[in-house]
Amino acid sequence: MLCSVKMRASLGGRRGVGGKHISGAERIVPEEAAEETAAAMLRRARTHERGRADFIQIRVELVPPGSIRTCPLLPVSTRDARTVEEGRAAARDELLRAGVSPAAADAGFAALEALTDSMRGAMVLDSETGRRLDDMGERGVRCTNMDAADSAGYDRFMAARGLGGDHPREALVLASKVAYAPGTAAELCWSDDPRYVTGYVGSAARGYRRIPVLKEAGDPVGGRIFFVRPGTDMEQYIAYMQEQTVLVEVKP
Ligand code: AMP
Repeated sequence: MLCSVKMRASLGGRRGVGGKHISGAERIVPEEAAEETAAAMLRRARTHERGRADFIQIRVELVPPGSIRTCPLLPVSTRDARTVEEGRAAARDELLRAGVSPAAADAGFAALEALTDSMRGAMVLDSETGRRLDDMGERGVRCTNMDAADSAGYDRFMAARGLGGDHPREALVLASKVAYAPGTAAELCWSDDPRYVTGYVGSAARGYRRIPVLKEAGDPVGGRIFFVRPGTDMEQYIAYMQEQTVLVEVKP
């Protein structure tokens, strides 16, 4: 049986409520690997560059085999961009090619640019009107319960393409679950890691389009927008993002 192992670490809250988010991770692994996975997460949380966590929670949960779905890994390709302006223009172009309207794309950039602090999740916008559809406020919708179906194979695949490391690993698995979720037109993302200026537009139509510069170095605010096709049932969409277990399969 597979199990889900999740970690979250924070600093300065009260028993994990409030405070500054330090680190989070999740894996779906064979039951026998739960211990080693949890230990690795604990290590990661305790040595995180964002600070020394005073609260670390690790949760291990069995996943009933019948409840698991799979999706393919999005193909990865990179756009050219040397400045934030070029990067954002490239991202806008990708969104339009994936079926997002110009008005909705602009609304997405405006929503991310207006953030003064990072959210934990994503804003969901109508891909036609650009109207925000979720009512999750400053938290946003979290996409969770996903991992690579074959973890070692996935790591080899990523390393062979120069995409090693936790950032690309987690971003591509998340982007694959999001892109193939019923209702998604496209996703726009840039990180809240001040040193990580690379972002992407993901969609089933165009794959994972990596954009080397989407924000200024040193900027600690990042964000994600999920653009959904008109008529998407929000309750079902959010449930899929938050609860559906999805394993992402690498096709060699
Ligand atoms: P990161 O790529 O981890 O730096 O995250 C960038 C932004 O994406 C964060 O500020 C959040 O707004 C959003 N985000 C991070 N993780 C998730 C997630 N699991 N689901 C939805 N949005 C997320």
